[in-house]
Amino acid sequence: MRFCKSCVTPSTRPDLDFGPDGVCDACKTAEAKHGHGPHAIDWTKRAKDFAELVERSRGASSSGYDCIIPVSGGKDSTWQVHVAKNVYGLRPLCLCFEPTLPTAVGRENLENLNRLGVDLLHVKRNPLVYERMIIEGFKRVGDMEWANHIGIWTLPFRFAVAFDIPLIIWGEGRMEFAGNFWIGEKNQREMDEDFINNFACLNGLRAEDLVGADTGIGLGDISMYTMPTREQLARVSGNKGCTAVFLGFFFNWDARAQVDYIEKNLNWGRRVDRVETTYTDFEKLDCLSMNLHDYVKYCKFGYGRAADDASRDVRHGYIDREEAVRLVERWDGRYPQASVAAFCDKFKMSRQEFDSICDGFTSRAIFETKDGSFVRDIDRSLVMKKQWVEGRRNP
Ligand SMILES: [Zn+2]
Repeated sequence: MRFCKSCVTPSTRPDLDFGPDGVCDACKTAEAKHGHGPHAIDWTKRAKDFAELVERSRGASSSGYDCIIPVSGGKDSTWQVHVAKNVYGLRPLCLCFEPTLPTAVGRENLENLNRLGVDLLHVKRNPLVYERMIIEGFKRVGDMEWANHIGIWTLPFRFAVAFDIPLIIWGEGRMEFAGNFWIGEKNQREMDEDFINNFACLNGLRAEDLVGADTGIGLGDISMYTMPTREQLARVSGNKGCTAVFLGFFFNWDARAQVDYIEKNLNWGRRVDRVETTYTDFEKLDCLSMNLHDYVKYCKFGYGRAADDASRDVRHGYIDREEAVRLVERWDGRYPQASVAAFCDKFKMSRQEFDSICDGFTSRAIFETKDGSFVRDIDRSLVMKKQWVEGRRNP
């Protein structure tokens, strides 16, 4: 494991590459975003491309909606609605896939988003099937948010077909955190079946893999966790087809500036304290289970949400690398007590069982062990080996 010389992301991050200069490709993308380097992005041209896409979809649907916006109570949802409705005058159909462990502030933000003057469908998926999928995802691939991820990615396509809507508008996309520089532009711009299979954190597990007598899940139970056929998608809006795009590809995404805007102008609310796995009060605040997803990510790869946030803040010039290292050492990978307790309560699991599943996915190369078990501080946090702590300080 080595660390980027510019941010604090390690090479263990899936789909992230490092250049010969020791800088990760998310940082190189940030450079291009800020208009520097040989691949500087022409934002005027991209905004024009977006406007053309919008005009192609405006009024095209027999349902009367111009686009679908997948939403939660997070910051991106309100920004997406703002851009689509207030800036481009579109009539969106907002779609919320019920989160695993929703928070009060997330619920308030979702109510508020509704009151921006949009139709909102809140999909209360079958909880019995969903909860079985959550446990299976956790045990099989070490991700309790696997079922949520697959649901939020596939459901908008299902509704695009059902409501005959040719455009789906996503938020941030891959541009901010993951490797982009060496992948095709299409995967930065568009969400499709290939994207879901290759880049959507699904760890090679498909919904179909869960069907069976042992899980009690039938083929009919998982239809909304699978994509419509390519033919169905191609027929949308008089054969216009359905295109799903990331706003972050077309506009110079800056989460902090956008949060300031929606807080000031659109009544969006932060947490009063920080999010459990990081130092910020605005990332992943709508679902406690996302904290667990970030915690297991730390167990597997040695970086969590605080490292993501600090790396993003460095790339946008809000902090320098020294401060990022301090923030990560202070907050990254702390055992998320409250989120674990909420998860164990909901899923009738003991904390010992929860920890033992996590241990099965925790890296022995990254964390200290003693007599075959992982060393934990008294607050239950794992102990990163000194060489990596040192490597992060001096990449
Ligand atoms: Zn970097």
